[in-house]
Amino acid sequence: MKSRKMIDKKVALVTGASRGIGKSICRTLAQDGNLVVVNYVANASEAEHTKEIIESEGGEVLIKQADVTDIVAVKDMFKDIKKRFGRLDFLINNAGVTDDGYFIMSTQKQWDRVIGVNLNAVFLCSKEAAMIMASQREGVIVNIGSGSAIVAQPGQVNYSAAKAGLFGFTRSLARELAPRGINVVHIAPGFIETDMTDILSKNFIEETFRLTPLNRWGKPQEIASLVKYLVNGGARCFNGQHFVVDGGRGSMETETGWQHKM
Ligand code: NAP
Repeated sequence: MKSRKMIDKKVALVTGASRGIGKSICRTLAQDGNLVVVNYVANASEAEHTKEIIESEGGEVLIKQADVTDIVAVKDMFKDIKKRFGRLDFLINNAGVTDDGYFIMSTQKQWDRVIGVNLNAVFLCSKEAAMIMASQREGVIVNIGSGSAIVAQPGQVNYSAAKAGLFGFTRSLARELAPRGINVVHIAPGFIETDMTDILSKNFIEETFRLTPLNRWGKPQEIASLVKYLVNGGARCFNGQHFVVDGGRGSMETETGWQHKM
């Protein structure tokens, strides 16, 4: 890893990047010449695997373990990034979890965890990033939401609430930070092939295909390509906007029942 003085690349922090969409975003941004910081919470071997892939492709990467719901861990992570590189150009708030179940049966613990990782953590990380970016007078924050905030999903009240919160968060923050040269945008993916959706039943998957005009799920790379476009200037004219990447599913009125998921 180069010292601070030698950094001639843009620096991107991707939260929840040991697997799935975050891993793909890191790989794409590294291929595009950025130095990427791979954040994860528990899965050190997967984070190491992400690092190995990026380095094998000639990219520069740093792994940072931190629970993004923990204010002390988040502050330490940003402090270390600032100390090492002196800057942060892009924050991709990607870390996310689901904990589905019927609302009446759901617990406060489930609610707190899902709101914590999907929404509260975005507040914590964006605040730290905004302070660094404001001093640079430039930066881009990309929030990864979900189509579940748009298409009603029974069994996902907690997740839908958290992801819907990201819409308002993004719009308001984008207006506030634009005068400081920072752009904030929001991506709402539909179903994407990752560990998060790997648990769904064959019947449920077939039903979602039927309800998606594209007749398939998205791939992590399709989200990563949009992130690349946005951090390379795209977010400037689309400041505060959201992008639905769901193969047209959000345009359909009927939704499949959550009870068929498992
Ligand atoms: P995934 O494969 O389950 O990976 C989740 C990632 O988040 C992992 O890297 C995990 O780290 C990390 N993470 C979880 N809790 C964390 C915490 N407290 N602190 C730091 N990192 C944490 O998920 P994915 O499918 O790639 O989803 C990525 C984002 O896209 C999420 O925000 C998700 O809500 C959103 N999304 C996904 C889909 C989909 O169909 N897959 C659809 C819509 C939106 P560890 O490996 O260490 O556990």
